[in-house]
Amino acid sequence: MGNVEYTPMVNASLCDGCSLCVELCPAMVFRLEGRVAVADAGKCIGCGLCVPLCPREAISLVIDP
Ligand code: SF4
Ligand code: SF4
Repeated sequence: MGNVEYTPMVNASLCDGCSLCVELCPAMVFRLEGRVAVADAGKCIGCGLCVPLCPREAISLVIDP
């Protein structure tokens, strides 16, 4: 029951910069740098939305109990 850490990560070789994750993540974790999304993992609230949302399957979410 401690602090769970969530670490969203973008696989830059899969991401095509569609920006869906930038627009839809409720915690505004993602931003575009050029044509690749970058995650500010510290903001993530672990909702899990981004993983199925990415059309390129470029986002993974590591949950550290
Ligand atoms: S939704 Fe996926 S493909 Fe689109 S910008 Fe985000 S990580 Fe890249
Ligand atoms: S799990 Fe939720 S809060 Fe975390 S990056 Fe994905 S959409 Fe954003």
